[in-house]
Amino acid sequence: MSVIEVSELRKSYGGRAVVDGVSFSVQEGEIFGILGPNGAGKTTTVECVEGLRVPDAGRIRVTGLDPVADHERVARVLGAQLQQSELQAKLTVREALELYASFYPRPANWRPLAERLGLTDKLATRFGKLSGGQKQRLFIALALVGDPRVVVLDELTTGLDPRARRDTWQLIEDVRAAGVTVLLVTHFMEEAQRLCDRIAVIDKGRIAALDTPEGLIRRSAGATVISFTPSAPLDEHDLNALPEVASVAYKDGRVTLSGTDATVNAVITLLARHHVTAHQLRVSDATLDDAFLDLTEAAA
Ligand code: ADP
Repeated sequence: MSVIEVSELRKSYGGRAVVDGVSFSVQEGEIFGILGPNGAGKTTTVECVEGLRVPDAGRIRVTGLDPVADHERVARVLGAQLQQSELQAKLTVREALELYASFYPRPANWRPLAERLGLTDKLATRFGKLSGGQKQRLFIALALVGDPRVVVLDELTTGLDPRARRDTWQLIEDVRAAGVTVLLVTHFMEEAQRLCDRIAVIDKGRIAALDTPEGLIRRSAGATVISFTPSAPLDEHDLNALPEVASVAYKDGRVTLSGTDATVNAVITLLARHHVTAHQLRVSDATLDDAFLDLTEAAA
């Protein structure tokens, strides 16, 4: 069942289309990622889903409800991460949790949530005195305190140190395991690859690709990366002529090629034919990072 449906969404500012016909649907229990460069239209898209912005055209449904016309009902099923400016500096962590819990008919118990997010010893601290990471964790707690069916998290781990980031990923996985659908905006590839079931890559207001992380990697031209140091120089022309090669780079005597499994076999054959030995031969899968560059460059 689709929890979020977005169809042909359009939004312009000053005559410039920043969201230009975006469609996707998010299934119940899914972690769905929206990935794209800065200014791609990610926040505008999710803020339309949250009912915070009014689309110029298109249709959005959240659990079957229109986020603009049914704003109050949508607010009860959808938890959204606040922006920094939306919380008063003097409010303590406990007050913020109690206040936000009071907005919902059946809120989650905020104490275990605060515990899980490492906020228990900060309950008496005022928002203005929290570190960046602590503020971020409080925003996540506030997004979850209404016990929502869907949670929208925009740049969830920006400003967190690597340890806190990993803890937050675990938390999101737990949230999903509890049955909550997650819409996640991110520009961190590792985060998207680790967490998301499916990802919409948005570039210049349009969806450049929509697939599982593995699917995005597979569909990019260079899904396999081969690198080695040849015992004698190789002719770049020969390397470029290998089957299904997407790119060739020669640096400090080391060759890095991207292509497919067919390219791997062909490299080995080429080396054997030239009596060249490959030192430190490495074959690896491309990362989402590689696929992302490929997909957004292809769209440019
Ligand atoms: P992203 O989240 O992918 O970084 P945004 O959706 O925030 O992108 O913004 C997309 C584009 O729309 C940007 O160029 C931004 O400057 C512009 N934009 C966003 N909101 C407004 C607004 N309220 N008024 C004018 N331009 C806006």
